[in-house]
Amino acid sequence: MTGHLAAVDVGGTSVKAGLLTPDGDVLYERRWPTRAAGGPDAVVAVVLDAARDIVAAGRARLGGDPLALGVAALGRVAKVPSFARRAGRAASGACSRRAGRKPSYWTYSGFRPVRRECVHGVARQAELSQHALGPVDEERGVARRSAAAGRRDVPLLDLVRDAVPVPVALGQDLRAGALAEARLGAGCGLPGFVFVALGTGVGGAVVLDGVPLPGSAGRAAEIGHLRVRAAGDARCGCGSHGCLETAASATALTRGYAELTGRRLPAAEIAGAVRQGDSAAIRVWHRAVDAPAEALTDCAVLLDPAAFVLGGGLSLAGDLLLDPLRAALARGFPLGDPPPVRAAALGDRAALIGAGLPARDRTAPTVTPALAPAP
Ligand SMILES: [Zn+2]
Repeated sequence: MTGHLAAVDVGGTSVKAGLLTPDGDVLYERRWPTRAAGGPDAVVAVVLDAARDIVAAGRARLGGDPLALGVAALGRVAKVPSFARRAGRAASGACSRRAGRKPSYWTYSGFRPVRRECVHGVARQAELSQHALGPVDEERGVARRSAAAGRRDVPLLDLVRDAVPVPVALGQDLRAGALAEARLGAGCGLPGFVFVALGTGVGGAVVLDGVPLPGSAGRAAEIGHLRVRAAGDARCGCGSHGCLETAASATALTRGYAELTGRRLPAAEIAGAVRQGDSAAIRVWHRAVDAPAEALTDCAVLLDPAAFVLGGGLSLAGDLLLDPLRAALARGFPLGDPPPVRAAALGDRAALIGAGLPARDRTAPTVTPALAPAP
């Protein structure tokens, strides 16, 4: 077959690579562990291996190089690992605004403690991200690192371009997933919708006329960090309290259930326990419904989307999540009937497919705004 595409989706736990038809059908797929604990160099090595591997697989299986390769990578503020949480607490304690002294804190460059000036008066834990690559800046083609955390941006687009002999496009994973849902999935034909991914973390994208909006600094639709009453005062990885992500992620479900029962179960098993009438599971599940209902109500009031499209691992619970969420949204929405809530159609392949679609556009006369600039 000629005219195929290649795509790589860099997730928090696995890197997926696939060969796609120009229409987005996945022909072949491989996965590797992300190796986030090894730091940015280790993750970049996995990404480059995956890029080379999938291009070679295209040659071997489909008889030629792909038209283009698309890469989608993390775009959201992530959870903070335990060593970083310790660093963050120490940092907060070290930070001082006493007269005559600049506020400062201890952070890590790699694993080496470094004293830094604190620009906000508190140590920002979000800068010490669980994921070795920072949020993707599609315009510049880099994975951003915080200057305050002592790390430099990773020039991911240039590195991948050097590794494979085909055109490369770089996108942010949630916007890639939303793009795939817009063109091929549950958002198909809608003038505008809000994509919400409830998974290990919580993120989203606002799609208008088929284009996921990046925002002025690539931070649009960070819905996981909307503050909601149902989350109480729980501390979030971004450094704030009461974010949606602390109540409605798979991580939050596992933690909440463990606090009530002492047992750590994956979210899918908690969903099963809800169906069997487990009272602790039902309690944490209610919170995981009420919290996004609040956030979606605010989004609906602000944006009036044609629909919400729910993706991520929790959305696989289906009506167990969607029915009470629709009911809670209907109760809380003050302006008549709320927008409908649909389940995403493309599952955990949405970002992989959405990475490939801009790569197709990259080779077509019309280029979408989600594309990185041409070399
Ligand atoms: Zn947050």
